Amino acid sequence: MSTVTATSPAAGSFCIPRSRRRINMPRFTMTVRSSNAVSVGVAPILTKFKHDCATPLPLLRHVADAMATDMRAGLAVDGGSDLKMILSYVDTLPTGNERGLFYALDLGGTNFRVLRVQLGGKEERVIATEFDQVSIPQELMFGTSEELFDFIASGLAKFAEKEGGKFHLPPGRKREIGFTFSFPVRQTSIDSGILIKWTKGFAVSGTAGRDVVACLNEAMDRQGLDMRVSALVNDTVGTLAGARYWDDDVMVAVILGTGTNACYVERMDAIPKLQGHVPPSGRTIVNTEWGAFSNGLPLTVFDRDMDAASINPGEQIFEKTISGMYLGEIVRRVLLKMAAEGSLFGESVPEKLSTPFVLRTPDLSAMQQDTSDDLNVVGSILYNIAGVESNLSARKIVLEVCDTIVMRGGRLAGAGIVGILQKMEEDSTGLIFGKRTVVAMDGGLYEHYPQYKRYLKDAVKEILGLEKSKIVVIEHTKDGSGIGASLLAASNSEYEHDF
Ligand code: ADP
Ligand code: MG
Repeated sequence: MSTVTATSPAAGSFCIPRSRRRINMPRFTMTVRSSNAVSVGVAPILTKFKHDCATPLPLLRHVADAMATDMRAGLAVDGGSDLKMILSYVDTLPTGNERGLFYALDLGGTNFRVLRVQLGGKEERVIATEFDQVSIPQELMFGTSEELFDFIASGLAKFAEKEGGKFHLPPGRKREIGFTFSFPVRQTSIDSGILIKWTKGFAVSGTAGRDVVACLNEAMDRQGLDMRVSALVNDTVGTLAGARYWDDDVMVAVILGTGTNACYVERMDAIPKLQGHVPPSGRTIVNTEWGAFSNGLPLTVFDRDMDAASINPGEQIFEKTISGMYLGEIVRRVLLKMAAEGSLFGESVPEKLSTPFVLRTPDLSAMQQDTSDDLNVVGSILYNIAGVESNLSARKIVLEVCDTIVMRGGRLAGAGIVGILQKMEEDSTGLIFGKRTVVAMDGGLYEHYPQYKRYLKDAVKEILGLEKSKIVVIEHTKDGSGIGASLLAASNSEYEHDF
């Protein structure tokens, strides 16, 4: 029997200093294992895992139907469903006539972005745009509300200071901001909303139950920054507005990034829980908060364990199954079990693999792009991230685990999209399938994980069938939510509209 050392072709393709190799590989693993065989103990774990993650067409159809049913229940009455179906107070979409200088501020799950745009109306459209991006320091995710909003306001102040060139504000006006906030908020008007709860691993104290615009305004005051939030928008709503600016057929927007969510254009008369003013358009954007969906999902013991260990157990189950924050962690949990019970990486369990969230979704994506014969990218990622030395068959198994999770995530996201389209079509025959309909997509997961994107699109095609799926265009709108939020700031400006 050969040994798993740097002399085997599989393990020798990346360079590991001898001293480190000794630390990571106890001596006995070097003498007993074949370079390309993986313990038979792994096979049953993999088989069961794939079985539990399976998303055959009937399951996808069930998920789509359940999504549509949950949407209706959430529209009927507040608290009527897992889906909050939040009213966005956005009832006019960008027309293209918007003019002037506007800012947008986007608090996502990983990054915080600031953007300014000079809008020039129908002819000139976007005259100039600039943006800046800062990652959110880990400690702020667990700090106080003031600390987080001070960080945001100070980033915004620094960015605003650098304004110049083609950007121009008429005298006597305040700079206006569209604030994209990607957490569940009970919107009370277009420029105010109460945080329902943090998601995506945030546990900031003192914000839940408060108006997030007031939190930002207070932080801007502390910075001496004189800007006005004229629109508070969910990132999905910003994406829909941004995409609609260029394309009238956009009806739905979906975010697949750190977390996930979707919104769509709804008829006012299809919202029983809505009381009061009905705008002339008769339509409004509804933020589904679909991350909380949980009906009929194929979950595994790894999902349940991850959920139980999370800061929001029992919540955001769809998000935990399909979004970027979690896919790497589910894979890590599977690999850990395979290492412990099936000796996937030899007789010992690599210590680093026990660290929650050490394997991230971008790592899965990078591994799945490896086309080399010996999967040396997979090998080096496993080594660098988890301190694991792997032979070729272990690497193949790792890829199978990644693919299983990514296939399940992408296909379920696709089923969710079909659920929304189905609901809209049921209420207004021909609205969706009678003409071209665009679903605007954004988020780092969708953008950077080609396999995920393909599984999602294939699932939509599979559920809808060839004819209907020709009509539905699933389109990436990069950074649409920033431009979208600034467009909504423009249409809700307190100054006289130039358009
Ligand atoms: P946010 O969700 O914080 O607003 P993004 O939309 O940029 O930010 O999404 C960031 C998320 O996208 C990351 O948390 C990660 O899960 C996922 N992601 C980023 N890069 C990649 C990649 N190369 N492959 C797969 N997923 C990625
Ligand atoms: Mg985002």
